[in-house]
Amino acid sequence: MFDMMEATRLEKLHVAFDPATGLRAIIAIHSTRLGPALGGCRYLPYANDESAVRDAVRLAQGMSYKAALAGLRQGGGKAVILRAPHVDNRGALFEAFGRFIESLRGEYITAVDSGTSSADMDCIAQHTEHVTSTTSGGDPSPHTALGVFAGIRASALARLGSDDLDGLRIAVQGLGHVGYSLCEHLAAAGAELLVSDLDSGRVQLAVEQLGAQPIASEALLTTPCDILAPCGLGGVLTPSVVAQMRCAAVAGAANNQLAHVDVADELEARGILYAPDYVINSGGLIFVSLQHQGETLPAITAHLAKIGSRLTEIYAHAQADHRSPARVADMLAERILCG
Ligand code: NAD
Repeated sequence: MFDMMEATRLEKLHVAFDPATGLRAIIAIHSTRLGPALGGCRYLPYANDESAVRDAVRLAQGMSYKAALAGLRQGGGKAVILRAPHVDNRGALFEAFGRFIESLRGEYITAVDSGTSSADMDCIAQHTEHVTSTTSGGDPSPHTALGVFAGIRASALARLGSDDLDGLRIAVQGLGHVGYSLCEHLAAAGAELLVSDLDSGRVQLAVEQLGAQPIASEALLTTPCDILAPCGLGGVLTPSVVAQMRCAAVAGAANNQLAHVDVADELEARGILYAPDYVINSGGLIFVSLQHQGETLPAITAHLAKIGSRLTEIYAHAQADHRSPARVADMLAERILCG
């Protein structure tokens, strides 16, 4: 465990067990150098305690990098609650988790993540103010989509010479909360949409409402297009997929798109521009962070728009150094965090 903490430069690991509710929770605080650690709370079954700790630590580090490059006064952290096969009282469990967060006196601020909902955040909010994404806070997904839209324009400018998306073929994988909202922006900008989703109803909606062209899920990643936007699950960019891709740039919302960081070098070698996922999809974090700090919606929207210029800087840096934008983003984030 300490080796993992040293390797990721993790500040602290907090663990709680509540016999009354059965709560088994881990909070990983990666960095508080820029501000309190903000990051989602996962509520998932884990094979063992070690894999839960590993998940929390890995994700907390990612949140620090994301917050640093988003220009936020926020550190990175992540919580994991180990999900038992049977839970009698989910509300009481999340209330106990709220008391755990409160005991950290503002060091960690939580948010919705895999397996948790705004209703769970409302339970947490009964015991602490260090919580975001409650039902009254609103869904961050449209803000994530707006940031990805700005990032796609920056990617088009860098690789195709113009940020005008009119007539560009843009392939979107995944039409969920972020992907569909992104498609609405892209359609309004005149892009030609190629879409796929495992849910045929979502595809049908995009065809009828946005004039999108449906593509089979297994074919979308390698379909000829100008820009590919993965907005479904992570890990989709494998070496074999990259070898078959026929696009100028990859710029989408999904977390951890690269199966491995070396895949970024393979994209670079093929001349495909890659928008680092935690930079382009930081709109949701920007929204919850600034909302929690009491900022107005216009101020939040202005901050979101900077995602495009941040990517433009990273692309210029990457081009000058002949390196992948993914590696440049990691280097810049570490530089900010380590001073
Ligand atoms: P979501 O669950 O609402 O939507 C995901 C969609 O992708 C679903 O409709 C699903 O059917 C589809 N999908 C999954 N695998 C697919 C495949 N192989 N081919 C085609 N479609 C597939 O999720 P979301 O909130 O829209 O988030 C999308 C991605 O963006 C996730 O990776 C998430 O981690 C990331 N992300 C989301 C936010 C946010 O604000 N919601 C913020 C940052 C990152």
